[in-house]
Amino acid sequence: MKTLIICLDGLELNYVLKWNLKGLLQKNYGTHDVSMIERIYTPLIWSAFLTGQNPQEIGYTMKYIEKQRINAYPSILRTFALLRKRFLPKKNLNLRRLAMKLGIYDMKKTNMPSVIKKQTFVSKLRDEGYNVYIEEFPSYNEFEKELFARIDPGLYLRRSFDERFRRVKESWDFTIKRWIRVLHAIPTHDLILFYTNFPDGAHHVLFKEEELIFVKDFYLKLENLPFLKDLKNIVKLIVSDHGFIHNEHTHSNYGFWSSNINLPYEPKTVFDFHDLIIKLVRTPKIKQSFQDS
Ligand SMILES: [Zn+2]
Repeated sequence: MKTLIICLDGLELNYVLKWNLKGLLQKNYGTHDVSMIERIYTPLIWSAFLTGQNPQEIGYTMKYIEKQRINAYPSILRTFALLRKRFLPKKNLNLRRLAMKLGIYDMKKTNMPSVIKKQTFVSKLRDEGYNVYIEEFPSYNEFEKELFARIDPGLYLRRSFDERFRRVKESWDFTIKRWIRVLHAIPTHDLILFYTNFPDGAHHVLFKEEELIFVKDFYLKLENLPFLKDLKNIVKLIVSDHGFIHNEHTHSNYGFWSSNINLPYEPKTVFDFHDLIIKLVRTPKIKQSFQDS
């Protein structure tokens, strides 16, 4: 079955329920456990989602990512980056952002090594001949374009509300651009993965308790992505890597999922998606009804 996976970073079930966002809840929904992951950290969790394995057990660890973040600098800057990390760990000198802007930071190096990529459902389904679309996805194929989409929360903590809100809206524009590319990919692909750093970015940057109301606006925007409701005869799986406890400014240790069909089984942990998605894509034409309202 043609399957669209909408990956929403940091989407929290409690807020989806509180605000009664039926478009996000779809027909069936629930949470999946991510507490066994080394750290509730975005690239690690998405790698567990893609491979169905604990990244720590297959060599994609915090240590690996941190090492690769240094290797991503051109050699001339590596020593400087190492010294900064060792002696000024809390100080954000913006070195990485600057290097990205100059086009000399190779973000691809921080993704999973290719031997682990082979274990993702993306590679496995491609090997079986399915057309898979995956554009810029954490741990898989992030590259410098992320610079423009990502909001660095540390940089914005002390800024005024207006400035922070403007930055979040700019980042949202990239979500829409990416979504439009995904819409164009749907007709010619069997499996399509869409990823956005929302609502996580909004939670992080509009961090004050009373600003939750503005974060809600982005949940509504996600629910109303252009044409999402008009897509028919396609499995729509919405997934988040972890939730968000806004008042504590922290990630919760479970993610969200919802689907517009009855799934063969419901994911209980982040590892369950790998087999589930392979099964969905392999299943020939739909026997059951889609909730296409
Ligand atoms: Zn995340």
